[in-house]
Order: sequence, then C-alpha cells, then structure tokens
Amino acid sequence: MIPVNEPLIGEKELKYVTECLKGGWISSTGKFIEEFEQKWAEYCGMKYGIAVSNGTVALQVAVRCLDLESHDEVIMPTFTIISCALAVIYNGCKPVLVDSDSETCTMDVTQIEEKITNKTKAIMVVHIYGHPCNMEPILELAQKYNLKIIEDAAEAHGAEYKGKKCGGFGDISCFSFYANKIITTGEGGMILTNNEEYAEKARSYRNLCFRKDRRFYHTELGYNFRLTNLQAAIGLAQLERIKELIEKKRWIGKMYTERLREIKGLQLPTEKDWAKNVYWMYGIVLDEKTNMNAAEFAMRLKEAGVDTRPFFLGMHEQPIFHKMGLFKDEHYPVAERIAKQGLYLPSGLTLTEEQIDKVCDAVKKILGR
Ligand SMILES: *Cc1c(COP(=O)(O)O)cnc(C)c1O
Repeated sequence: MIPVNEPLIGEKELKYVTECLKGGWISSTGKFIEEFEQKWAEYCGMKYGIAVSNGTVALQVAVRCLDLESHDEVIMPTFTIISCALAVIYNGCKPVLVDSDSETCTMDVTQIEEKITNKTKAIMVVHIYGHPCNMEPILELAQKYNLKIIEDAAEAHGAEYKGKKCGGFGDISCFSFYANKIITTGEGGMILTNNEEYAEKARSYRNLCFRKDRRFYHTELGYNFRLTNLQAAIGLAQLERIKELIEKKRWIGKMYTERLREIKGLQLPTEKDWAKNVYWMYGIVLDEKTNMNAAEFAMRLKEAGVDTRPFFLGMHEQPIFHKMGLFKDEHYPVAERIAKQGLYLPSGLTLTEEQIDKVCDAVKKILGR
C-alpha cells in the first residue's frame, strides 16, 4: 500500500533531540523552543513566534487574543477543518460561513462582503492544500470594515501570495506541525504576530496565565498549551531543510499533473499566477458526470494499493453544529460538491517517481483510460 503520507525524519532531528535528552531539557523550557519560535517567525516575515502544543489550540488562542465579545462574528470558509470553527465557538463567538472557490478550494472572496454585519469582527483565512487564498480582496475588506485577519497557514508552510509568505498576512497567524504537515514536530503549533500585545497575551494564555511579577497569582484564566523542547528540536531540524522539503512537494505536484492532465472528468490542483502552491496534499476532484463519487473512487484505489483521504466535509454539514442550532438550512454548493467528489492522493515527502507512476496508472485504469 502506498501511504497517503509519511513524515521525513533525518539525522539532524535525531541529533537535536538527543541533545535535549542528554541535557535534560525535555519540558517546555530550553534553547530549541526560542530558536524555533524566532526562526519560524523570521522565515514567515513576522516579528513574534509563540510555540504551542498544536494547530487547533493555536487558533483558539489567536481568537482569544483579539478580545472579542460574546456573539461577535468571525467569517470563515465552510470548507476547512473543524479546528477553525472550534476556535471561534470556544471563545463564545459565532462562525459565519462562506463557500469555496471551485478552482483553488480556498474561500470564495466574492462572498465575504455580503456576510459582514455590525457584529463581524474578524475574517479567518485558511489556505487550503498548499494553495494560498486570494489575499488582496480580503485585506481590502478588512481595512474597509475594520476587521482583524486570523490566518490559518497550517497547510501552507512556505506558500506565497504575490511573493509574500503565507502566515505573514494575519494580524495573528497560526500553524500546525502535525506529522502530516510540511514541517512537523509530531504534534505542535505556532502563533505568529507583529503585534507585541497579542504576543504577550498568547504567551500568557499558553502558560496558565502565570504572572511575571508573582508566579502563582492569577488574574486571568489560562491553559497549558506548551510545546516541549523535544518537539521544538525536531521542528528546528525540519526548518533547516524546509527549502528541500518544499521543492520535493512541488516536484510531486508537477509529476502528478504531468501524468493526470489529459484525463477527462478530473480536476487537478492549480497554481494561480499570484500564487506559489506548495502542494501540501495533491487534491483531485471527480466530475459528477463520471458517475462516481470520491468514496467509491477511494475504495477502488485502495484495492489497487493506493491510500487516499477524503476532502473536508463543510462546517455547515456537521451534525454537531446542527444540534447546536448553527448553519441549519445553509447551503454552499461548491463545498458540498468537492466534499463529495474530492480526495487527496499520496503526497508524502518520501514518495518516489515509481510510486507516483503506480498511483497514476491506478487512477487512469479506474477512470477507464
Ligand atoms: C492540521 C490543521 C489544523 C489543526 O492542526 P492540529 O495541529 O492537528 O491541531 C488547523 N487548520 C488546518 C487548516 C489544518 O490543516
């Protein structure tokens, strides 16, 4: 079976982790944490980095830093991971959804303005499968209506919009370093910002809101969302070769596209002329005219030894949110279609050309070519 993803861990990761183990700095204090925070912030063109335990809590803390009032609204794409909606809901606010752009699968920027009300305080931008959102129209709306931008760049390490790195656009930006992300710490996340006040708050929330002036005295409620030095050691080693990792992802993307381009009824990932796509996952969408949905396609691919993953199911189609009275009777046709018809092919950093050939042959055979 060709796995959908496999992390690429090298000698340097081992060396740095060994250094932690031998030195005894295995918790959330240690030199790798600060170095990873600084270097990641620098890589993305931001001032402050705050490492946290995963991408989900990075989003939760990011929303909290904005100091929103309960029932304030945050506009976000329906087509994303539930972490985005949870971050808004756990802060007592309301997610307001927009559909996806059918070509890039990122949020359809033409649908944002009509969703803005006097309660709207922020837009949560999510780059999808390695392709950036169309940022300029979003930034213009943010300026016009005085909205904050929360950027979720978990799937877009090193991706660029008009030459600027994803994660460098938000008032506050979030990353995940889960094992399937382009650089990984196993579990892990980071918040980036240029705003010193947000950085201070995020550091405090991450660490139980211990006060600097008096340690076990608390004036706010915090969390233990700390990353360990061990994890940061892996992250730093990964970051030191991110260029090579991104080149590999882009190579995988190119290899797939060359081989699948001619197949009718199959929509492949794109790269808009304003974008650098890092092809985090190579997502394909079957035309409904093929009379096959992604679930059936995935099953047939599995029989051929190819592992895949389904696309996100939109937030407006989640039973838990209906139960909470959210998004009832809302419809987003693009997100609904790609959720039903989309899947991603093996896209891991260990993938070989031979495996790509095998995957593409299986795809062609199933689609009758
Ligand atoms: C992976 C991911 C997250 C969540 O990150 P975890 O580290 O798994 O909590 C959030 N947003 C997006 C877009 C992701 O792909």
